[in-house]
Amino acid sequence: MFLRLANALTRSGYSDFFNTLVLELGSVLDVEYVLIANTVENPMKARTLALMARGELLDNISYDLKGSPCETVPERESCAYEGGILERFPDDHLLVELGVQSYIGMPLLTSDGRKLGILVAMSTEVTQFDDLAHEVMRIAAAQVGSELERSSQQEQIQALTYRDSLTGLTNRRGLHEQLLKQTPEAIFLADIRRFKTINDVYTSAVGDEVLRAVAERLQQYIGSETILARVSSDEFAILPSSADLAAKVADGLSLLEQGEAYARQIALWFESPVIIDNNEFHLDFTIGCAGQTSLANDQDKALTGAELLRRASVALADAKARQHGYAFFNSSMISAMEYRQLLFERFRKALREQNFQLYFQPVFSLKDRKLVGAEALCRWYDDEFGWISPLDFIAIAETRGLMQNLGDWVVTAACQQLLAWDSDGTPLPGKLAINISNKQIESHDTIQRFEQLTQGVDRNRLLLELTETAMMRAPELNLKRIRQLHEAGFSWAIDDFGTGYSSLSYLTQLKAAVLKIDRSFVSKIEHSQHDETIIQAIIVMAKALQMDLIAEGIESEAQLEYLIKSGCHDGQGFLLGRPVPADEFAQNWLSPTRKN
Ligand code: C2E
Ligand code: MG
Ligand code: MG
Repeated sequence: MFLRLANALTRSGYSDFFNTLVLELGSVLDVEYVLIANTVENPMKARTLALMARGELLDNISYDLKGSPCETVPERESCAYEGGILERFPDDHLLVELGVQSYIGMPLLTSDGRKLGILVAMSTEVTQFDDLAHEVMRIAAAQVGSELERSSQQEQIQALTYRDSLTGLTNRRGLHEQLLKQTPEAIFLADIRRFKTINDVYTSAVGDEVLRAVAERLQQYIGSETILARVSSDEFAILPSSADLAAKVADGLSLLEQGEAYARQIALWFESPVIIDNNEFHLDFTIGCAGQTSLANDQDKALTGAELLRRASVALADAKARQHGYAFFNSSMISAMEYRQLLFERFRKALREQNFQLYFQPVFSLKDRKLVGAEALCRWYDDEFGWISPLDFIAIAETRGLMQNLGDWVVTAACQQLLAWDSDGTPLPGKLAINISNKQIESHDTIQRFEQLTQGVDRNRLLLELTETAMMRAPELNLKRIRQLHEAGFSWAIDDFGTGYSSLSYLTQLKAAVLKIDRSFVSKIEHSQHDETIIQAIIVMAKALQMDLIAEGIESEAQLEYLIKSGCHDGQGFLLGRPVPADEFAQNWLSPTRKN
């Protein structure tokens, strides 16, 4: 019998260790009940890990320790009651129910004496627990204690490996583990836009708080069965359970529509700002989603969790590259991604070799067609891909962190050209407009950098353009930088005006010198009463705010006429002059013999 107990004691580390031990202890001590219980989570509540009654293993239970002899099991010592226990502990329902008379309990301790639980043997008869019984219990308790310690350490290690310490959410590895066990219906990856700016402008401690707040906000809204993980610095994975999906989106939608509806929900959860130290953060997300395409009718062909996660990443990358808020995976994204990757490699090479050109488009006073300035527009010709639209390569530069490099090149080259025209005796009248991306004015040293890049050029002769949409991507920061640059003597134009969502109060604060009416409005003159009304409103507003106006994209005489009639002073467009290389521009518009 002792041999069997000794054997049982050597089974620590095996999954049946606790069960074998309670059975063997029962026979060696000749008692009806033996249990091992864990009290780590709550010292007043025991959760059994193994429970033996009359030679049989029972399902585990939880019970209160208050008013039970276990409560009295002192930290290090055993305690034994060799009869009459019911009279002493009348409130212990478990003892009463079992009809227990005698009791011996031992604390389960870690090597440094922390209490992890109890080992208890009970009999319905009055029993003398002799020295041997005490010794057996002590040895068993020591063994169980060290086993519990080992497994709790393992749990902690697991927790460290699979949990994100900042937010307490599952991390990427943890998510991968979970995906091995279950196949989700859909995965959403939500990436906080402009998170880097928050870290740069405030501190990373504030950034951490924002991440924690985002995790909390998401947890507050997602369904209880939904899995939430933080998979990289500012990227969260949401795997909605079917119940959660059904609760948040309308019936009868296709998976594609469901994904979109759920993504809209996520955006709504962040309608009210996250507030950290009195700073309000209006957060929005780029969301990529991938879903099972045939889950309902074909379980076997369900995509693995890992594959879904990969697809959601592709969708997220696609949404980011196209600067969209949301994308649902489709297989064409992979080839689009490969194309973008290839183009990116070429772009990086072009940047190293400064293989870009500036074209210049003239800006005229509309009434008399007098040249009043020019806009510098970047051009890239790649031997393999041909001409690439600036809209495409600027998006690459912005999303791959190269915009500052490209922007610096543009500003330098534009200033050099301005000075070159001067020294050729054909100076540009008015201002030279340079397009600026908001990525170029994010960093702390922006002012110094602009001063350096434009050295030798009168700042009055430059006009920095930022699109309204770019402005509204980081309104607070951009406002601050634009004002600083304004104070340093640079003037500003709001480009593509009418396409963003700036408020009147924001515009007032910007102190921009110029509003550029977006081409989309100009092109609809003659066709749309609505757009004409918008142009009228913009003109009235610009006058009230004392801003100059430049209409973009004038292609027809009718448009030109309408703009003049409405009181818009300046404009540019193919009708008046296309963007051309610097030499051609000088030839066409700056030659000393030419009268403007
Ligand atoms: P934008 O600043 O609004 O520039 C005007 C765009 O409209 C230019 O396109 C120009 O070629 C085009 N355009 C001018 N007149 C007409 C017209 O009458 N009809 C039509 N259909 N188009 C006209 P482009 O050069 O392709 O540039 C597109 C955008 O790329 C620019 O829009 C600007 O936002 C951006 N971009 C170009 N160069 C740079 C740069 O050096 N830096 C930055 N950050 N952005 C740039
Ligand atoms: Mg522009
Ligand atoms: Mg424009």
